[in-house]
Amino acid sequence: MQMQVAKDMKNKLVYSFADGDGHNKKLLGGKGANLCEMTQIGLNVPPGFVITTEACLEYLEQDALPQELMASVKDEIGKLEAATGKTFGTGPDPLLVSVRSGSALSMPGMMDTILNLGLNHETLAGVIEQTGDERFAYDAYRRFIQLFGKVALGIGDEKFDEHFEEVKRRVGVKADVALDASHLKEISQRFLAVVRQETGEDFPQDVMVQLQLAVESVFRSWMGKRAVDYRREFHITPDMANGTAVNICTMVFGNMGDDCATGVGFTRNPGTGDNEMFGEYLTNAQGEDVVAGIRTPKPLVEMADEMPTQYAQLVDLRNKLESHYQEIQDYEFTIEKGTLYCLQTRNGKMNAAASVKTSVEMYDEKLISREQALLRIDPELLEQLLHPSLDPDSAVEPIALGLPASPGAASGKCVFDADLAEKLGKSGEKVILVREETRPEDIHGFFAAEGILTSRGGKTSHAAVVARGMGKPCVAGAEGIEVDVALRLARVGDYVLHEGDVITLDGGTGEVYLGAIPTQQAHFSEELKVLLEWADAVADLKVMADADSPEAARKAHEYGAMGIGLCRTERMFNASDRLPIVIDMILANSEEERKEALNNLLPIQRADFIELFSVMAPDPVTVRLLDPPMHEFLPTENQLLEEVKTLSIYRDVVRGRQTALASIASPPPLPEAFTELSEEHVNDALIKKERMLQKVRELQETNPMLGHRGVRLGITYPEIYAMQIEAILEAAVECAKKGIKVQPEIMVPQVITSQELAYVKRIVDELTERLEKASGEKLRFKFGTMIETVRACTRARPLAESAEFFSFGTNDLTQATFSFSREDAENKFLPMYNDSEILQDNPFEVLDIQGVGQLIEMAVRRGREVREDIKIGICGEQGGHPQSIRFCHHVGLTYVSCSGPRVPIARLAAANAKLREEDFVIPGR
Ligand code: PEP
Ligand code: MG
Repeated sequence: MQMQVAKDMKNKLVYSFADGDGHNKKLLGGKGANLCEMTQIGLNVPPGFVITTEACLEYLEQDALPQELMASVKDEIGKLEAATGKTFGTGPDPLLVSVRSGSALSMPGMMDTILNLGLNHETLAGVIEQTGDERFAYDAYRRFIQLFGKVALGIGDEKFDEHFEEVKRRVGVKADVALDASHLKEISQRFLAVVRQETGEDFPQDVMVQLQLAVESVFRSWMGKRAVDYRREFHITPDMANGTAVNICTMVFGNMGDDCATGVGFTRNPGTGDNEMFGEYLTNAQGEDVVAGIRTPKPLVEMADEMPTQYAQLVDLRNKLESHYQEIQDYEFTIEKGTLYCLQTRNGKMNAAASVKTSVEMYDEKLISREQALLRIDPELLEQLLHPSLDPDSAVEPIALGLPASPGAASGKCVFDADLAEKLGKSGEKVILVREETRPEDIHGFFAAEGILTSRGGKTSHAAVVARGMGKPCVAGAEGIEVDVALRLARVGDYVLHEGDVITLDGGTGEVYLGAIPTQQAHFSEELKVLLEWADAVADLKVMADADSPEAARKAHEYGAMGIGLCRTERMFNASDRLPIVIDMILANSEEERKEALNNLLPIQRADFIELFSVMAPDPVTVRLLDPPMHEFLPTENQLLEEVKTLSIYRDVVRGRQTALASIASPPPLPEAFTELSEEHVNDALIKKERMLQKVRELQETNPMLGHRGVRLGITYPEIYAMQIEAILEAAVECAKKGIKVQPEIMVPQVITSQELAYVKRIVDELTERLEKASGEKLRFKFGTMIETVRACTRARPLAESAEFFSFGTNDLTQATFSFSREDAENKFLPMYNDSEILQDNPFEVLDIQGVGQLIEMAVRRGREVREDIKIGICGEQGGHPQSIRFCHHVGLTYVSCSGPRVPIARLAAANAKLREEDFVIPGR
């Protein structure tokens, strides 16, 4: 008996609006569930019912409607007849219905809808009699025949449109509204003939047949190309929405006279978030007229004068909707002969500024809790508030598309090398640095540029990471662009960009435009500050920033960073006043020579750290010791070969000139420039370049990212790490002397074994002892390691013995786990892998929980077995990604670190991760 009940319940395929469970969106679709809920809370919804998504799945599986479905539908129609006093398919007062799709997730415009179903020869006469309006009736009929013909019978719109246009042409009118009843009657008859001609059968007069065909077509639309593409594009999986429900609802008409109207509203202004009546309406009109733009709709507030009673009802409807759903609603209504009906409601989509403002205000109005205020905002949405964006009204076609590597929009003159970018930037010009790919020595160009465009490299390429850190827009890997630095031009398809031409980048979409497109400024509002403070109070995870200059640290602080999680010291080496010293250090032939160069670097590094620590005080600053392979500080082999060739020619010229001068008895006076550079000068330059060339060749590696870098460098050239450690510790002493409370953390990159860590730790201990003795200050700092190799994850126990903190470098760890080159994968095969769903996301952007995440989980567990209170964070690019942050919270990390401008997003994501920790599941488990 019980089983029978369970079976019956499972098989219930149709629910009236009065009975359906308003929370069961999976079964009834979002629209259907809302119609049920609105009915049940007493809003005036036209009577109707919902056919479930299960019925849809069964139909798609069997290619036939479930057996009892139409009988249940008929019963429900009977109830509608009883409730409205109208009759379906007959009678003087016929019942007409709308048939709409609606799945668990809103897929705007992706599936089909049929209106005015129930019209046939007989009911048409009834409608004419009821309304006394022949024009209205034929207008409804011709719309129904076309819509039904298209959706249920598969007849293309053009077959109908040509008749429509022909009649309009003959009558000599342009707008549909100029047609009278006789024209619309003729059009209806022509449309019926189209159906006969195209299908070989008459338009169905049996209204139950109409209904069945309509239901089947809505079910089929779930697998239509539009819907399938939409689901793929927005990653809608079957566990999010599976099948569409069908909503069958009594038609109400806003176009039956001047006591009728139709409109759409938002419970608050979705553009500003202001708490006001917002929306538009038209009297004596159909819903589609409001959106079609044939007549200009009026703002809702005007209804207060035009239809005061209904306006008061509408205000009441709006208030009820908001207080019931505790969310901004986007609703549709119709007034039929003075009666207000609510036809639909759903959560309103708003821009970021409005979302933030409404969250704070709804909390203040006691409509929602703080938790709800935080949870209702998708952290990614905040991006809009943190960077300038392109004016949405500028409809210009892009000339190229690359990877959206760092958000924001900027315009400027394109410039093909960093030196010129710096020169023009300093003189006040706005420039965009355009390079095939950027290198560390381009850093001064980054400072000067408004944005960066590269034709190679992915989202973790040098250009992308540096631009993100600086909060500048970057489009990377725009492969259609060929940069020719020698000719000072870039080819983009059919366009040739000359140096100085103005372009605009949208780093949020990867689009590149010709000319200057207007931009909108970023807006870090008071409300956002309030919301993020609430977030910090809720979250377990701390949010740090990646920053390697005092300026970036200051910015990060403004964004609410609670410290620096990653300072890449190599960035400090690249500034134009330091690079020559760094090059001297690399070219050194002996330890002595190297130490001499390092002695010159030490005070500079110390000064950097003092400033950095002071800006962030009293928060921690994690300084990573030198990581990149040495060759990154030198020019490329090709560039050096060119320079050596040019210098050799020049030396010959200088030599030839001297020979010539020596052979002339009374040589003419030469301009100064010719006497300044002697052969000796040129020779020195040449020797230096040749040495560099030789060094570059010595340093050359087939896979430099897997080669002589990180702690391997620190062990082969211990004096480099010693200099950096000394600079950090001396900076700490200086700050302590000034009474500035600082928390430096020394971080070793690329570690694979505890012996490496022990090696560096010895240097740290020696220097600490020496400095403490000399200064009399007790040094307080942490020593730790990056975990960015697979081996480090497996050896987390011994590493935790000497490391006081771990920081997962998930850029390298992802590279190592996938065996994908992080420089190449993103613009070679990864997009194809994502499109064909071999991989759902780009693992360099979204943490791969199933692979890399498992290594992280293991390392966290093992590390904590040895050192229970070990501080653990993440500093790869994924550290700023909300979904990845959820995982970081789940595995109990202490902090995430991300580029400064992503800090607000990460703060909100950290709070949301905490609030939603109960329902987190590891994908695939
Ligand atoms: C990492 O590998 O995740 C990291 C932060 O270091 P980098 O990107 O500098 O290699
Ligand atoms: Mg790394």
